[in-house]
Amino acid sequence: MTPADLTFDRQHIWHPYTSMTQPLPVYPVARADGCELTLDSGEKLVDGMSSWWAAIHGYGHPRLVSALQEQAGRMAHVMFGGITHQPAVDLCRRLVEMTPQALECVFLADSGSVAVEVAMKMALQYWQARGEARLRFLTLRNGYHGDTFGAMSVCDPDNSMHSLWRGYLPDNLFAPAPTSRFDGEWDERDIVPFARLMAAHRHEIAAVILEPVVQGAGGMRLYHPEWLRRIRRMCDREGILLIADEIATGFGRTGELFACQHAGITPDILCLGKALTGGTMTLSATLTTREVADTISNGEAGCFMHGPTFMGNPLACAVASESLAILAEGHWQGQVLAIETQLRDALLALRDNPQVADVRVLGAIGVVESRRPVNMAAIQRFFVDSGVWIRPFGRLIYLMPPYIITPEQLTRLTDALARALQKPELFQS
Ligand code: PMP
Repeated sequence: MTPADLTFDRQHIWHPYTSMTQPLPVYPVARADGCELTLDSGEKLVDGMSSWWAAIHGYGHPRLVSALQEQAGRMAHVMFGGITHQPAVDLCRRLVEMTPQALECVFLADSGSVAVEVAMKMALQYWQARGEARLRFLTLRNGYHGDTFGAMSVCDPDNSMHSLWRGYLPDNLFAPAPTSRFDGEWDERDIVPFARLMAAHRHEIAAVILEPVVQGAGGMRLYHPEWLRRIRRMCDREGILLIADEIATGFGRTGELFACQHAGITPDILCLGKALTGGTMTLSATLTTREVADTISNGEAGCFMHGPTFMGNPLACAVASESLAILAEGHWQGQVLAIETQLRDALLALRDNPQVADVRVLGAIGVVESRRPVNMAAIQRFFVDSGVWIRPFGRLIYLMPPYIITPEQLTRLTDALARALQKPELFQS
């Protein structure tokens, strides 16, 4: 990439959550192989991010590349209205088989946020079909569900700056975020405000939506699975639907194939994305029970009112099927467990560092919460100079590497993280 390309990038291209007038620096990446990103300069960085939870098998996995190539040779895309194809059928069959038995019907869409829109729309159509005006969602503070408007309306109101959209966003219900930690004691009082909110609004609530066990972009918080069991029971009692957003947690990241399994619960609607294609293509899936699907279908519209242009994209479906085939071979469990063990060894020791407020580890996720927010440009430079790709936000420096990472590569990540904590200039004062 030439200096002119980088200037063009600065002047004309938005990057995620950045300013057009004061953009943060970007690093040109030329290749990605295995667990490494290669910069234009030739520097190699060990990847600690899996490209935001997605690249679980690493980059350029030969089986994923050939699935894409073979499918591209046959049919890159064809509309899904009035047409079906083998890649979509194969993928959906796999999804139905690998998710809890009650989840039988699959809606394919383009991205995680759209999967959440679809889930919310399904819940609204479900109640509409049952002749009840239920127009609100109950969720948890510190949640994150995507950047489209429906999804934003159930994201943490402060983190996602609901103030910017006042008057435009639907008015949903927010219970305090869980405080009982995943690996801590269950505190009965934790769930009380949630239970009160549900009781007070029981006839208005279409669905509860939450990220099971791991609250990701809203704070990388790990909460007690008992929360999920209680919420499942409350939803059953009130007939309220439960939407599990497993876009980040799905496909083994937390040590279980799906995070709901930590609590042994099945949601009525499940959202999947990110790692679905092993991080190669954008694709999401929203699964529901037969009862939800039938009720929607028997309603006034006689159908579910959604149908994106690139629905069931054959390239994305073919590569997702191959990614799930790799998962089905089962090596991920040992890989994630080994990552978890190493992360615990390396990161829990950092709790004694005065710069550190908390350390949390679950599956292939390691989080160090610092006392002060990072200085983003400086810490990013430090990590690149240290030969690793770690992208913190706020007070959170976290690792979620591809499952194929070697112990030596993981050590490079944890060492760089530990060294960053020794450097006050990498944090805001
Ligand atoms: N839900 C969760 C839990 C997520 O972590 C994300 C993405 N960070 C989304 C939804 C939105 O997915 P996407 O960015 O693919 O729209």
